[in-house]
Amino acid sequence: MKISGSTELYAVLGNPVRHSMSPVLQNAWIQAHGFNALYVALPVELENFETALQGLAASDVCGLNITTPFKERAAEAALRQSDRVKLVGAANCLSLDRAGRGYDANNTDGDGLVADLDARAADWRDLDGQIVVLGAGGAARSILAALSAHSEKAIRVINRDQERAQKIANDLNPKQIQVGTWQDLPQHLAGASLAINATSQGLNNQSPFSPDFSSTQPDAIIYDTIYSPRMTAYLESARAAKRRHFDGLGMLAGQGALAFQHWFGLLPDLRDGLRTLEKAFAG
Ligand code: NDP
Repeated sequence: MKISGSTELYAVLGNPVRHSMSPVLQNAWIQAHGFNALYVALPVELENFETALQGLAASDVCGLNITTPFKERAAEAALRQSDRVKLVGAANCLSLDRAGRGYDANNTDGDGLVADLDARAADWRDLDGQIVVLGAGGAARSILAALSAHSEKAIRVINRDQERAQKIANDLNPKQIQVGTWQDLPQHLAGASLAINATSQGLNNQSPFSPDFSSTQPDAIIYDTIYSPRMTAYLESARAAKRRHFDGLGMLAGQGALAFQHWFGLLPDLRDGLRTLEKAFAG
């Protein structure tokens, strides 16, 4: 990659952010498409986020990914919010508006998961049985908004704090999205076609959990949004029940591909992105 005075800059902002896989992913696509651009990771102190955004916009930084803990603040600080950001209340993708000298906010997390499903388990919409989503944090909210936008299937959202789940169902689509209790998870999994873990349970092997998936549809898809570790106890359990299972690397590639499309106007190859991430992880 040739860096010159006209190289355009893109970045991911977070705290912490040095572990982020987004630079590897985005620079591989930038190179594959021959754009004169560079993507870096920028750590930001908690109290400096809005100041950092203003400075980056003033310096013509063209696009940003936003990760924990700044997604809600990114939505608030934006010049304009997409309809999805208005629904979700958080943004993971910002695009520079040069005239307004600020950023427009998008949320590609949930659509990224849907794009990954479309790429690797394209029959997900046609399977019998409800969708079960575990969690009611930021990731779950974005995923539920995307699932509701892309499918009419019944969805059951289950969270340890049930009120949080009820609020999401009410905000998004109370007819399609019903709430269940954590204790009744086995009943909700019976006959399910897709079960997505969008909690942080199992992240970095903390409080791993292993639901029994043997009562789900035989062709059910078991999805963990976590990718560190890649094989969680949740996915081990899916493997034991002989169900199709996917880790969160595909969602990471998917949200990145949709961010790339916002910035560069074309959708990069999702499978190439996934291969890039898998290689980076392995090595
Ligand atoms: P939040 O902190 O917003 O939400 C955390 C969620 O996990 C809440 O629903 C919380 O339940 C639940 N939870 C935490 N600990 C437990 C536990 N011990 N038992 C049961 N439930 C628990 O986090 P995010 O929504 O931002 O992230 C959630 C997951 O999604 C993370 O693992 C993250 O890595 C993953 N993610 C993956 C992405 C990808 O591209 N693959 C992108 C974004 C996120 P409660 O409300 O009851 O506290």
